[in-house]
Amino acid sequence: MKYVRYARYVLLALVIAMYVRGVAQETPEGVTIHVIQRGETLYSIAISYGVRVNDLARLNGIVNVGNIQIGQRLLVPTGEVDRPSVPDTHVVQPGETLRSIANFYGLSMEDVAVMNEIANPNTIYVGQKIRLLADSTPQATAEVVETANAPAETVPPATPDTQIVPTPTTEPVIPTETPPTAAPEESSNLVHVVQRGETLFRIAQQYGQTVNDLTRANSIGDPTLIYAGQRLIIPGYEAPEVAVDLPTPFTSIDVTPQTLVEGKTVRFRVSTAVPTLISGVFLGRELSIGSDETHTLHTILQGIPLFTEPGVYPLELVAVGMDNGETAGYSLNVQIVAGPYGREYIRLLAGRDGLLDPAVEQAELTLLENVTRPFTEPRYFEGQMGLPAAATIISPFGTRRSYNGGPFDRFHSGTDFAGAPGTPIIATAPGRVVLADTLNVRGLATVIDHGWGIYTGYWHQSQQNVQVGDVVTTGQVIGTIGSTGRVTGAHLHWELWVGGVPVDPMQWVQFAFL
Ligand SMILES: [Zn+2]
Repeated sequence: MKYVRYARYVLLALVIAMYVRGVAQETPEGVTIHVIQRGETLYSIAISYGVRVNDLARLNGIVNVGNIQIGQRLLVPTGEVDRPSVPDTHVVQPGETLRSIANFYGLSMEDVAVMNEIANPNTIYVGQKIRLLADSTPQATAEVVETANAPAETVPPATPDTQIVPTPTTEPVIPTETPPTAAPEESSNLVHVVQRGETLFRIAQQYGQTVNDLTRANSIGDPTLIYAGQRLIIPGYEAPEVAVDLPTPFTSIDVTPQTLVEGKTVRFRVSTAVPTLISGVFLGRELSIGSDETHTLHTILQGIPLFTEPGVYPLELVAVGMDNGETAGYSLNVQIVAGPYGREYIRLLAGRDGLLDPAVEQAELTLLENVTRPFTEPRYFEGQMGLPAAATIISPFGTRRSYNGGPFDRFHSGTDFAGAPGTPIIATAPGRVVLADTLNVRGLATVIDHGWGIYTGYWHQSQQNVQVGDVVTTGQVIGTIGSTGRVTGAHLHWELWVGGVPVDPMQWVQFAFL
C-alpha cells in the first residue's frame, strides 16, 4: 500500500517534471505546484492546502521541515492522503503547536482545543498530554470514587491443568541459504541537501546511520569530499512522526529532560538551517549559548533555581542569521515541577554560630556567584562527571535546612561525602582552577571552571594541592577532606553550578549533557 502510494508520487513527479520543462503550466490530476513565498512555512502551506506536512515533506524529499527556501517549488498532493491512525493522546514535543498536532492527525485544532479545555493554543507546553479522542475522557470523579470503595476481588491463583514440556529437537538443524533480500524501495529514501559546514559523519549521526551507510548509498569514494548543496540519499530513512512547526531558520529544538525540575539542569539544543547567532531568556535570565564551529548547532545548559514555583514558563529565543542578518523569534513553553527534596535541622558546632551572620554569608555567596557566572571557552569536557572522592554520600543536594532551630529558608547546595580527614579529593572533570582560598562558611575551598558556564566547587578541605590558573584533569588529586568552615564534622561538600545556578551535581554523574 505504502509502496503503491510512493510509486504514484514518483510517477507524478516525473510527469510534472516533464510539464514544468515544457511551456504548459497545467498540472495533472492529484498534484499541484506551490511556489514558496516569503514568510511561509511548510506548515502554513500544508494547512492552506489541507494536507499533512509529513506528506508534503516526503513528496518533496524535505527532511528538516524548517529548511525551505523562498521560490522553491513544492509538489502538493490534492487527492486523498492516508492519515495516521489517531491515538488517544499525544505528548507535545518541542517545536510542535496545537495546530500542527491537529493537522498531523487530520483533526481540527478547534475540536482538539475544546476537548482539552485549552482556551489559548499558545499555552501548550513540552511534555503536555493532549487528548485526541473524545472517548478517552477520564472517568467521572463519582465513578472513580465508587470503584475505589468497591471491595477488592480476590483472584485465586491459577493452577495449570497441564504442564507443557518442550519436546527436545532430535532433527539436526540444516543451514538454509539466506533468501536474497528485496531491494530497498528507492522511493522511501529521503534526500538530505548538504549544508555548509556539515560533515558526512554529522549527517550520518543525525539519521542514526554510519558514514559507511551513506558512502555506499551515494557511491562516495572519499567521505571528506562532500559539498554544500549536494543531495545525499538517506537509505531507508523514515521521516520522524512529529508535527514540528518551527519558523525559519530553526530546524529542531530538543529539551532534556522534557519535564524540568527545580534544582536540576535542563539542556536545550537548537539546530538552525544556516549559520546563526542565538540569544535567549529563560526564568528572567539571559542565557549563555555554546555553538559548534558551523554555528548551526546551539547548546544551552541552565540550572533551574531551587524554590522556583512549579508552573509553565516560556523559553524565548532570538536567531540572527550570520550571513543575511535576518532575525526570527521563537518561544517554547516548558513545565517546571517541584523537586523531591526533604527537610533537616542542622545544629552547628559550639562557637561557630557567628558564621550565620547574614553579612558574612551574603558576602561569601556574592563572591561565589561572581566566580561561577562567566561563560568561558573552551569547553573542557564531554560525557559524564566522575565522583569527587571514593566515599559514601551522607547528604543529598536540595534538602531544605533549618539552622539551630531557625526557619527552613535555606537549602543544601551540594552533595556531601563522608570521609576521614586526609581522604583524597579528586577533580570530577577537566578544567581550570578559578578559586583556591579560605572562606568563612566554606572553609578551604576550590572552584574549577569546566567551560560553558559549568563549575564545580569542593569545600571544607584540610589541604589544597592546586592554585588559581592550574589546569586539572579528571581524577587529579586537588586536596584532602577536612572540617574547615561551617561544618558538623569532617566531610566533603561537592557543588555544581550551571548558568550561574547551583544544581544537583549527581544528575551530571548519571547523565551526559555534553
Ligand atoms: Zn554540604
